[in-house]
Amino acid sequence: MNPDPWLFTYEGFEPAQEGPREALCTLGNGYFATRGAAPESHADGTHYPGTYLAGGYNRLTTELGGQWVENEDLVNMPNWLPLTFRLEGEDWFDLQAVTPLEYRQVLDLARGLLLRTVRFVDARGRRTRLEQRRFVHMRDKHLAGQELVLVPENWSGQVRVRSALDGRVSNAGVPRYQRLQGKHLRTLVAEEVDAQTLLLEVETVQSRLEVAEAARTRLFVEGAPAEHSREFLREEDYVAHEFTVALTEGQRLTVEKVVTLYSSRDPAVSEAAMEARHAAMTAPERFEELVTTHAQTWTHLWRRADLTLELAEPADTHRVLRLHIFHLLQTVSPHSIDQDAGVPARGWHGEAYRGHIFWDELFIFPFLNLRLPALTRAILRYRHRRLPQARQAAREAGFRGAMFPWQSGSNGREESQSLHLNPRSGRWVADVTSLQRHINAAIAYNVWQYYQATADSEFLYFHGAEMLLELSRFWASMAQWNPALKRYEIKGVMGPDEYHTGYPDRAGPGLDNNTYTNLMAVWVLSKGLRVLRLLPRERLQELRETLRLEDSELEHWDEVSHRMRLVFHSDGMLSQFEGYEQLQEFDWEGYRARYKDIHRLDRILEAEGDSPNRYKLSKQADVLMLFYLFSAEELGELLERLGYRLEPEMIGRTVEYYLQRTSHGSTLSGVVHSWVLARRDRAASWRLFNEVLHSDISDVQGGTTQEGIHLGAMAGSVDLIQRAYTGIEVRGGMLHFNPYLPQDLRRLRFSLRYHKHLVDVDITQDTLRLTGLWSDQEPALDVCVRGKCMRLSPHETLTIPLGP
Ligand code: BGC
Repeated sequence: MNPDPWLFTYEGFEPAQEGPREALCTLGNGYFATRGAAPESHADGTHYPGTYLAGGYNRLTTELGGQWVENEDLVNMPNWLPLTFRLEGEDWFDLQAVTPLEYRQVLDLARGLLLRTVRFVDARGRRTRLEQRRFVHMRDKHLAGQELVLVPENWSGQVRVRSALDGRVSNAGVPRYQRLQGKHLRTLVAEEVDAQTLLLEVETVQSRLEVAEAARTRLFVEGAPAEHSREFLREEDYVAHEFTVALTEGQRLTVEKVVTLYSSRDPAVSEAAMEARHAAMTAPERFEELVTTHAQTWTHLWRRADLTLELAEPADTHRVLRLHIFHLLQTVSPHSIDQDAGVPARGWHGEAYRGHIFWDELFIFPFLNLRLPALTRAILRYRHRRLPQARQAAREAGFRGAMFPWQSGSNGREESQSLHLNPRSGRWVADVTSLQRHINAAIAYNVWQYYQATADSEFLYFHGAEMLLELSRFWASMAQWNPALKRYEIKGVMGPDEYHTGYPDRAGPGLDNNTYTNLMAVWVLSKGLRVLRLLPRERLQELRETLRLEDSELEHWDEVSHRMRLVFHSDGMLSQFEGYEQLQEFDWEGYRARYKDIHRLDRILEAEGDSPNRYKLSKQADVLMLFYLFSAEELGELLERLGYRLEPEMIGRTVEYYLQRTSHGSTLSGVVHSWVLARRDRAASWRLFNEVLHSDISDVQGGTTQEGIHLGAMAGSVDLIQRAYTGIEVRGGMLHFNPYLPQDLRRLRFSLRYHKHLVDVDITQDTLRLTGLWSDQEPALDVCVRGKCMRLSPHETLTIPLGP
């Protein structure tokens, strides 16, 4: 039997599983997110309650072995969850101190709710039933709520309930960062507003971001306001209300805690504390009302973002895909449109990578482009706002144009760490991953893909073109002329494979002529030149004037884009970088036998006093990224532009060669490899797809899920279904289909947005059915199925047989 595709149910309490469960049961609305920690828990090694505001960063400095390092972190904000109780004569509720009779936690994906049911018996033989519900409101982004229902099954007596706002938090969610400073907050206000309402306002110590939380707690017995006594407690950085109620056997006590959260950076806000207080006091009367509006907003989101599938064999695929969409929409939602935040690699779900923004958008946007493109646009604006920093960074590095950082946070400065801890050896090692300049190709690719999917010329006009031009300028300035070879070269960078940071026999980091980087630079330049032809004349003139873009510079771009050097192995295969072929083969068998889990070969080898730089091994797809981002046809054209040829038989060999030499030390790796195999080896592709699917639910990276989800892999898995197996491409102003469903996938349905059109897509092993769902005002749409082009009109259904 397939599990219910909308519910994740966890039976029983397992302390060792609590970390990943808390990450996977995080609730959020794109504005803030709260981990799925139990409301009575605190950070104690088993639990880690965390609340994070999108883009809520702060910097701290730490001394490490005589070196001062500065880190910018996504700040763990005050914990709004505390809602607990004690029965007369007992201590505060502690799951580990009572005998559980029943324990169930359910994540309801359809309604965005986290539910927990506990039945327990205490030392005095009292049986109690506890039901909890929680939401982070998807319609009103400032609201969250918790409900606690307590039923005495065989006793009568007093219950004391405590509801608190706890600012005694720090960033301590990632053991590897334990040595780094983590105290980001100072309390500004901690007070009782009225008999039901508490207020806690904090400020981040460096970025001076004010965050205010208010909590309104109300008690009901059998649905009617409960008679109770009340006490207000204030400790340092902490406020609480305690209520005492008398219950008789079988009576139902309901406690409703409604929380509001505001920050000083919110638009349309006067002062965070005032807004939070006012919103808590005037929030709808009852919890249920808030659940209804919250769930309705989720229904609306699901209509745009869902997909349904039928599988040949019972499997968890559908449910996990929905979990992935769910977490994506909790990280980036319509609330992102008014916000200045990027899309973090690990969601707003934990503290791994300090909430930074990497190139992972490249794996996330394709899904959004065809579903909720307004979200892509909002996140691309995060980059555009940081163009001045990127220009400055390029200048300081001796280049022109804009050089975006490998890791980005608040203001777009490079946030990559200079040292990182290898937990295996206990050593702090120099971190040079910021040499991954290829992020500057990913951003250009994202701008272009968004434009292809939406034809949003306004975006191109005001923001997109400027970014493409500045990125082109950057790549042209990075390319150095090699007079002997009569080619341009890019030196001293890193490709996506983070295991290769430099040459074994050369001092200083960086590699030369990384194929992925060089070819992407060519692609960016070709689009930079192209965009000039897409702009209206007046805007083109403006941009050329402001950027001082002379004809001679454009000629130079054109020249670089035709004369970039690519390095090949002696058999004609694209080399990962210059010198790769001379590296030693790696003893995969031996290491597998010795270490079992060899995902993180960088750590293993460093601990052995060795280095991955000496071997032909990769953390993740590097050359093969090209086959992920481009069709064979597009890739062939790019090589041809440079005067090289891509023999069709070489593609298969290249895929096999690099796949055999990859440890998949990043969850992104499976996405790319599954993709490049989709047409070559359907079964192998499906196997890898299933591995990607399990990245977080099975925590395959050795315990990292508890530190935050892997959003690139999550979105990438959905995109594999949405685009790889359907062969959907948006190019040349047309929507292309070339379905090739894995054998296990009987049927797939979803609706996609393309330009101004909404199309329902229904694919089986032998038919593609397309229905135009847009209004009569818009024109018909040109679609091509396996190269055959046709017109789809509004309300029309085309049924196209898919031959073998
Ligand atoms: C990967 C990068 C990725 C980062 C954040 C690293 O492990 O190597 O490609 O951007 O994680 O997800």
